[in-house]
Amino acid sequence: MVVPADHALHEAIQVSSLILSDDVRRQKVENYMAEMRFSAATARKIQDVFISEMNKGIHQQPSSLQMENTYVPELLDGTEEGLYLALDLGGTNFRVLLLELAHGAPIRQEVQRYYIGSELRVGSAIPLFDYLAECVSDFVISQGLQDVELPLGFTFSFPMIQHSLDVGILVTWTKTFNCPDAVNKDVVRLLREALDRRGDTKVKVVAVLNDTTGTLVQASTLDHNTAIGLILGTGSNACYLERADRVEHWEPERHGEREVIIDIEWGAFGDNGVLDFIKTDFDRENDANSLIANSFTFEKYIAGKYLGEVVRVILAKLTKEGLLFVGESTSDSLLTPGNLTTDLISHIEQDSVDGGVSNTKEILGKFGIIPDEDDIRIVQYVCEVASNRATLLVSICLASLLDRIDKEQVTIAVDGSLYKHHPRLENWMKQYISLLAPGRKFKLIHAEDGSGKGAALVSAIAQRLKKRLQ
Ligand code: ADP
Ligand code: MG
Repeated sequence: MVVPADHALHEAIQVSSLILSDDVRRQKVENYMAEMRFSAATARKIQDVFISEMNKGIHQQPSSLQMENTYVPELLDGTEEGLYLALDLGGTNFRVLLLELAHGAPIRQEVQRYYIGSELRVGSAIPLFDYLAECVSDFVISQGLQDVELPLGFTFSFPMIQHSLDVGILVTWTKTFNCPDAVNKDVVRLLREALDRRGDTKVKVVAVLNDTTGTLVQASTLDHNTAIGLILGTGSNACYLERADRVEHWEPERHGEREVIIDIEWGAFGDNGVLDFIKTDFDRENDANSLIANSFTFEKYIAGKYLGEVVRVILAKLTKEGLLFVGESTSDSLLTPGNLTTDLISHIEQDSVDGGVSNTKEILGKFGIIPDEDDIRIVQYVCEVASNRATLLVSICLASLLDRIDKEQVTIAVDGSLYKHHPRLENWMKQYISLLAPGRKFKLIHAEDGSGKGAALVSAIAQRLKKRLQ
């Protein structure tokens, strides 16, 4: 039964119907996919769970949402001047940046990308941080700034417990990193020690943050209504501007802060079982194939690192059940975890948007599969269902945040290749958020490179706060 108020939501979250030449086959495929699709009532239930987990997290009760205080209590005020460094770790590219500010706005940027080999990403912490320090000094020396005292903001896009703006204890690695001996350590200290071992620059690490905070801060220089930072890239997470009086966890002395950025860490939403009612066998298999199993439940439903794998697991299941690629020699390539990347989902979704088949055919061709018309329809249907589920989940959380923030107008700053390149995410999000948070005025903007620029901007904020207290 659909509650009348949710009728519009129910209608909006329908995906295109699957039409096949064989109706029995259609029915079987739809049955397999049924648990991937939510009713409006399920969407509301997820929203309730998210709100409850947020409340528990912020009140420091057990919750899968960390609701971490970032200790970024204000945005730029237009007085920031000079040179600031940033280190961006945790995205696809590791980078060092230099930002020159005048009147609180960037006037020059220099960036250098560095490659981190897999032996460093999954080894011990010291070689990894020594390498980070080596890249910082290589960059600083190449800029001729080795004798200049430079504040550095460290974007470390992994879950941390922050004791202050410049102390961040690593909770767990995610994505493609796993250096177990860094867990429970302060990553700022690891970086400072590595820089000290070299001793060839005057870099001062003044702030640690993650890419969501960087995105919010960077976007706030473009749109002063920005109150949410969202990442939809390799991983997914969000942060928002919270009223300081609602935040219980506050370690350093308070100085009359009115707001503070809270890092939700929603990648782990559901790790305590509260979302088990939406978990499918496909999700269980996706989790089992991931680098760190039994963690980051929510991220594995939505983020770029996993969305393609969810689709692949489904396609492999349908193939095994004789519902897909019948008569084709089983493609080992498609049966191998990790082989269907999320960029391919975007390409297939583009076909659905255009009513075409060429991308889908080409991609399947690369897996050695020559699909018939029904195969193509099924593959497109699965991509749409998985993409739609991801979008709905993100929209549910954003709608809850808009209610929590309760401001006249809120801009949501989004960064990440999944958001940027997926042909339907943005439109679906606009539609779903409006229906889930009726009456709330919001805008989605694409904020590029918050994890880089944002970190330099946060280091400028940190310097300003420090001076004020001196
Ligand atoms: P990061 O999150 O690592 O900082 P990005 O925001 O560029 O970097 O996200 C990279 C991730 O985005 C990739 O892991 C991939 O999963 C996903 N991605 C890349 N290209 C596309 C695309 N065309 N469509 C959808 N997702 C994509
Ligand atoms: Mg990024």
